[in-house]
Amino acid sequence: MSDCIFCKIAAGQLPSGKIYEDDEVVAFHDIHPFARVHFMIVPKAHIATLSDCLPEHQALLGKMLLLAPRLAREQGLDTGFKTLINTGRGGGQEVFHIHVHVFGGGDPVRKS
Ligand code: 5GP
Ligand code: ZN
Repeated sequence: MSDCIFCKIAAGQLPSGKIYEDDEVVAFHDIHPFARVHFMIVPKAHIATLSDCLPEHQALLGKMLLLAPRLAREQGLDTGFKTLINTGRGGGQEVFHIHVHVFGGGDPVRKS
């Protein structure tokens, strides 16, 4: 998707605070963090929302979730963290390329 900001970040065409990358997934700091630590886990493949995921995406989704505790620990969130997937306009999603928010530390602001 040539006009998708997270596709561009995943492809290295836009700068981001990348903290993890492999052949399928990238993770980078949110540009407007709502906690002391706030990053997102994003597949390199363009999938717009959780509602667009198919059975073939099961392993990818599992991989994204399993990365959350590992990267949270690496980012210093020793006592735990929150995860959030906004889905669709009604779910408050702003960037239509699926992503898992991971945040914690300080007093996280709830995002509805
Ligand atoms: P959503 O509401 O779609 O779940 O969250 C999108 C998130 O992407 C927001 O928290 C926003 O701050 C973040 N974001 C939007 N544009 C950029 C960008 O260009 N770079 C980074 N690192 N984060 C972005
Ligand atoms: Zn995309």
